[in-house]
Amino acid sequence: MKIIIIGAGVSGLSTYLQLCKLLPSFDSHTILIYESQKPCETVPAGTSDPSLSNFENLTDSTAVVGNSIGLTPNSVRLLKYIDTKLYEAFKLQGYVSETYTFKTARGHTLAVMSSGDKGSPEEYTISCPRYGLWKCLHDVVGEDKIQYRKVIDVDLSGEKPVVNFLDGGKEDADLVVGADGVRSVVKKAIFGEDDERKYAPHYEGFCGVGAFIDVEIPEAITKHKSMVFTFGSTGSFGYCCAAPMPQRVLGWWSNWGTPNVPDRNIVDTDDIRRQLQERHGTWNDPVIHSIIEKMTTDRIYPIWTTPNLPHWGETGAVLLGDAAHTLQATSGQGASQALEDSVTFSLLLSHYITKAEADDSDLTVKDAIKLASKGLYEIRNPRVASIRARARRLYITNKRINNIIVEYIFYCFIYLWTNFPIIGKLVLNDVFKELSGWNVEEQVKEYLEKKGH
Ligand SMILES: Cc1cc2nc3c(=O)[nH]c(=O)nc-3n(C[C@H](O)[C@H](O)[C@H](O)COP(=O)(O)OP(=O)(O)OC[C@H]3O[C@@H](n4cnc5c(N)ncnc54)[C@H](O)[C@@H]3O)c2cc1C
Repeated sequence: MKIIIIGAGVSGLSTYLQLCKLLPSFDSHTILIYESQKPCETVPAGTSDPSLSNFENLTDSTAVVGNSIGLTPNSVRLLKYIDTKLYEAFKLQGYVSETYTFKTARGHTLAVMSSGDKGSPEEYTISCPRYGLWKCLHDVVGEDKIQYRKVIDVDLSGEKPVVNFLDGGKEDADLVVGADGVRSVVKKAIFGEDDERKYAPHYEGFCGVGAFIDVEIPEAITKHKSMVFTFGSTGSFGYCCAAPMPQRVLGWWSNWGTPNVPDRNIVDTDDIRRQLQERHGTWNDPVIHSIIEKMTTDRIYPIWTTPNLPHWGETGAVLLGDAAHTLQATSGQGASQALEDSVTFSLLLSHYITKAEADDSDLTVKDAIKLASKGLYEIRNPRVASIRARARRLYITNKRINNIIVEYIFYCFIYLWTNFPIIGKLVLNDVFKELSGWNVEEQVKEYLEKKGH
């Protein structure tokens, strides 16, 4: 079987590793990875590069690769499942954020909650630059496995899918994996005109900005090894340690509601500082003031999501990660869900291919791919739809804060949600259990048993 993976982001690279590990008679398969962007280590840190200012050329994830992520325990465990070297490298480059601190703009601490999953050994959220996760995956896969060619189109009308490249070349395969992010060309091939009409990325009415600064890590973080989230009437502000101590890498981000999509992602640094001052200048946290004073970033990112798709591929092409379900950056779950997709799909594909390769089987490779794609969607879509809906409910609450009474009601809600989980459950379900308690292998096993496959 020949598989072409389009996109060497979190989904593409983790799928490559999983398929190499799980596919039966691996030597009889060819897996190729095509990526449009050469890695450029210096750009993400917040420097201006005019070639990066055009949204059309880059996925949002690539464009703001310099921001922080917090990889939750379920995903940290998944890294170990994918490859122990990957897990070890990832943990070494990040900071173990053992708690989340929730604060109000007026300076009250609402809650300090453990990020641990109570497993054995207990895993905690690891905070790091998003680039850090990508780099670990990239190093384990190996640079020589990635070919830098931009895909412009995938033709799904023939016997086999055909991938067309910007350089004029073309190549066919049994399976094309669309791991090409929010503006996926594979998604376009699958849905044709509907891709623009019904399934184009949806702007959530929110924007974000964030980067890193080289300062001593503040006590607000070190005291409880915390990621700090502050909410107020003009948006939210967060900061975390993004590298092991004693390195001085402070990651920060700010999100705010704005009805229109900005037309560029590169903005004058002083303009960003002025906007940060406007939104957070009166907030009662000296760490936030110091970040605003010292930050040097010049890029902002609109927050997009993908509308719920009716399937993630039926004939020779499948969508994974952001290509299938871009989630709000503020959900903190995009990379995690991309990893879960990769493992789910690889387990299903290996299962069905093993069946197709059995001597007495009348299942073809084509059928196996179709079944794996269908299974992926049926197992994964309800989960990502629920994460997207929950993140939206939190936003909406945030957007409506326009007077002090609503502001205090919002703080009360966060206080009750974080301190009395039973109340939060009524509105947001049991978020932490739902996120950490999802076991990919068990889900796949249950699904196959239910289907009698
Ligand atoms: C600001 C921000 C903060 C975030 N914070 C978190 C967080 O805290 N926790 C979390 O879990 N997630 C977070 N996320 C989300 C997470 O980064 C993404 O969900 C994740 O990167 C998705 O990975 P992906 O591989 O599916 O897509 P991408 O990372 O977008 O990778 C797609 C790849 O495909 C390549 N590509 C695209 N088109 C083509 C083409 N035509 N030909 C060849 N190659 C192509 C791109 O160059 C890119 O390398 C955040 C996202 C943002 C924007």
